[in-house]
Formats: sequence, C-alpha cells, structure tokens
Amino acid sequence: KRYLAKDGRYQQMKYRRCGRSGVQLPLLSLGLWHNFGHADDLLKGQQILRTAFDLGIIHFDLANNYGPPFGSAETNFGRLYKEDFSAHRDELFISSKAGYDMWPGPFGNFGSRKYLVNSLDQSLKRMNLDYVDLFYHHRPDPDTPLEETMGALDFIVRSGRALYVGISNYPDDQAKKAIAILKDLGTPCLIHQARYSMFDRWVEKRLMNTLDDNGVGCIAFSPLEQGMLTNKYIKGIPADSRAAKGMTYLQRETVEANLAKIKGLHAIAEARGQSLSDMAIAWLLKDERLTSVLVGVSSAEQLRSNVKALDHLGFEADELKKIEDILKS
Ligand code: NDP
Repeated sequence: KRYLAKDGRYQQMKYRRCGRSGVQLPLLSLGLWHNFGHADDLLKGQQILRTAFDLGIIHFDLANNYGPPFGSAETNFGRLYKEDFSAHRDELFISSKAGYDMWPGPFGNFGSRKYLVNSLDQSLKRMNLDYVDLFYHHRPDPDTPLEETMGALDFIVRSGRALYVGISNYPDDQAKKAIAILKDLGTPCLIHQARYSMFDRWVEKRLMNTLDDNGVGCIAFSPLEQGMLTNKYIKGIPADSRAAKGMTYLQRETVEANLAKIKGLHAIAEARGQSLSDMAIAWLLKDERLTSVLVGVSSAEQLRSNVKALDHLGFEADELKKIEDILKS
C-alpha cells in the first residue's frame, strides 16, 4: 500500500540542538544495524521506517557493513526510501559510516582516505542517495595518521557527498585531537556516536565534557543494551530475541549475569509507571548535552513503546539514588 506520511507528525516529537550547530535531532533516533539485512523481513522494515517517520523520528542511522550480509541494510533502506520517502528527502537526516571491515584487501577497512571515499560512494549507490546528511568515521584507526582520516572527512563534505561529519567509538584523547584537526580544516565535527547506557557509562568520565566544551553533539548507541534494558528477558530468554539468536555480542551469559540488576531497575520503572526501556531512555536524556538516543527495534510496536519514554523524562532525587545503588551493586 502506498505510504502517505501522517499529518501532525512533528507535534509529539521533541528535538534537541546538536552541539553548537544548526542541526536539531529527535530525542529518539532509529538505527538500522539489525533487522534490515537480507535475512530479515522487509515488510517489517517498511513498517518500522513508516512508523518512525510518522512519529517525527527523522534521523535514520546506517553504516556500510550493516546487514547481514555487509551492505544489505543500505540496499534495503535504499529500496524502502525510494518507495516511501524520496518526496521527503529534505526532512530526513540520514547517516552512514565506514571504519570496520567491509571488502577484502588493504583498502576495505579502517581509516584511509581511499577507504572512506570509496566506501561512501558505494553507500550512496546502495541507498539511492546523492548525499548523506552525516558521515562518520566508525572507529579509530591505530595506523593511519589522524590528519589523513580527518582530511578525508573534510574532502567528503567539500565534494558534496555529506553535509556534516562525525566520529564514533573514539576515546576521549583521540576525540579531542580529531575535533581539533577538523576545526582547523574548517569542517567542524558535528557529533560523536558513542556507546552509552545505564550499564556502560564510560562517556561520563571525560568525553561528555570534551564534547560540550567543543560544541560537539553526542548520540548514544545501544541505549537498551541490545534489549537487556527492556522487559524482554525478565522471564527467560525468548526464542526470537537477539540473545537467543546469538548473532551479536549479546550473549545468553551476559543476560543471565545482569538479571538481578535488570529486575531491580524494572521495579523502579514500574513504580514510576513506566516500562524499563522507557526509563532507560529517559535516564540517558536527563543529561541535556546528549543530543539523541539511538535505538534499534525489531518491530514497529517496540518503537511505539520506546517513544513513550518522552512522556515521563524527569526523575526524582530518590529514584536516581535507587538507580545508582543498583548500578553500583
Ligand atoms: P538497542 O540497545 O536499542 O537494542 C535494540 C534491541 O533491543 C532491539 O533489536 C530489540 O531486540 C530490543 N528492544 C528495543 N526496544 C524494545 C522494546 N520496547 N521492548 C523489548 N525489546 C526492545 O540498540 P542497538 O544495539 O540496536 O543499537 C542501536 C543503533 O545504534 C544501531 O542500529 C546502530 O545504528 C547504532 N550502533 C552503532 C554502533 C557503532 O559502533 N557506532 C554499534 C552498535 C550500534 P530484539 O531484536 O531481541 O527484539
């Protein structure tokens, strides 16, 4: 059935400015790492994207290697984009990345100018796009000079392939250097995409301050710890879950090891009248420096549920204290 975007889709969603830039992102963004590969149900993917757009979630996050197989999430997104969203291109903020293993030989991985430019050209073709809104270097490269990698990002913007650039998985010291090089080149770093959740708080040590000082935004990936911070695993491991499928780094053992904490947090969320996943999202967004929370979903229903987090963002001091106690236990 032909898709007609819902009227009033911008009324419920809230948007936050990304660092000191002109970009505003929805508090919730959608990632296509899982559930959009060739092994997945494309009809479900279509429902997820349509639901997202109707909820005002205008930021879709991809990477060259999302699938499986590599590239297939971009290919499927490109098909769905062409059918449903090409009339809305200017409303969308689409990102892709390169930095992990993508094709054989010395130019299909890490951070050379050759890899980044060639990879983005492939991504654009797969996605049926002329440009991406945001292009990331996906992880630091220990061997390529940072000047080359950042120079490639600068070139990518100047050549019209991307409007903005960002970095992902850069530790604080390397992020500082990358941000400084990009600033000198005249192409500011828009955003850092970092793993951040109740269970993984490394960004709180230094990175959030560094980004704030430099006017760079931050978007949190795996905010639900791939499903652990939801009600999904409380009564055992469902067969259709990520932990059961064993496709990613979410292992059964990890779920089992964290179960006591998950149950404790679930009780606090219930007392707030909120689901655990909504509380996990709200808990991240209490830091105003965080631009957006980047969730993955395996159904449109999950996305509709996650967006309810925005109905109750505030925390009482005693709730925060109880959460801290559980996280530190
Ligand atoms: P999440 O922590 O949001 O985990 C998503 C999974 O949680 C879903 O697939 C689903 O699991 C489960 N889930 C989500 N909502 C609900 C709900 N309401 N109820 C029950 N279960 C729910 O994030 P991801 O790890 O998927 O990461 C999100 C995005 O971040 C990625 O798509 C990607 O764009 C980006 N990312 C970036 C990385 C980087 O290196 N830059 C690395 C990893 C991710 P199930 O499938 O079992 O139903």
